[in-house]
Amino acid sequence: MSHRLRGQIDPHTHSTASDGTEPPGVVVRRAAELGLEAVALTDHDTTAGWQEALAAGERHGIRTHVGIEVSAEVPRPDRAVPVHLLAHGVAADSPEVTALLRATVEGRRVRMDRMAALVAEDTGWTPEQVWEHVPPGATPGRPHIADALVAAGVVPDRDAAFAGPLRRGGRYHLHHPVPEAADVVRAVRRSGGVVALAHPLTGVRGRNVTREEVEELADLGLAGIELRHREHDAAERDRSARWAAELDLVPLGSSDYHGSGKPNLLGENTTPLELWEELLRRRG
Ligand code: AMP
Ligand code: FE
Ligand code: FE
Ligand code: ZN
Repeated sequence: MSHRLRGQIDPHTHSTASDGTEPPGVVVRRAAELGLEAVALTDHDTTAGWQEALAAGERHGIRTHVGIEVSAEVPRPDRAVPVHLLAHGVAADSPEVTALLRATVEGRRVRMDRMAALVAEDTGWTPEQVWEHVPPGATPGRPHIADALVAAGVVPDRDAAFAGPLRRGGRYHLHHPVPEAADVVRAVRRSGGVVALAHPLTGVRGRNVTREEVEELADLGLAGIELRHREHDAAERDRSARWAAELDLVPLGSSDYHGSGKPNLLGENTTPLELWEELLRRRG
């Protein structure tokens, strides 16, 4: 147990309900073992891991929150910018949010079929063999294609897959439809939840949201912003911290843990509980 994690929450983690490699209950157990005061599970575009995470929280005596990392985009005249929005404090049965997530997951399934067909064409596998790398009920994504490519011996690990055929512009990087960020903020707030912008400055080749675009979301009720994240360097942390101060957004730090699917370690970046409470107080 580390003193560093006392009074801290890790508000952004992933499980096998999306592209993490550990079941929700294991992520929560590890958080408890580490000495975190609280943890939040935020799988991509799904609430599928919530029940198991909450049950594990009871069992292991750690305060457990459940949210969603919602895939979205900020429209621009040329090409939209992808963003990830952390939705917290939403009810699992909120019809509006459920409908929005269902549409995204359906689009991800269609994309997965197309990606699996391409991988099958290149490896001699069947598309079904590629699909076997998506855990049952998980939000299908590029990391699962990466796992199939590792199993097929095409690349040594997920990282290499993302540096190669899964990178933007790579053979297996296909588009899937996502909602507009503004609509996500409105829907989550109408459902009694709160939204924080995840890792705003990690876009490929500097294609990131601008301060003006974040300000527009803040005007709609965006309440928080991630600063301390493995993929934000010192300058990016400073820049997002400035936006937090100027736009009155609650500043967050989080691990974005994916089990063994990424180098991010649980609890490597965290948020003081006082700030977390402040975020939740801003619920719609
Ligand atoms: P998708 O949303 O299906 O296009 O896939 C994007 C996901 O891939 C993100 O949520 C990341 O968690 C994951 N990802 C991005 N880069 C890497 C990497 N180098 N290794 C493992 N996972 C990655
Ligand atoms: Fe992910
Ligand atoms: Fe993300
Ligand atoms: Zn994430």
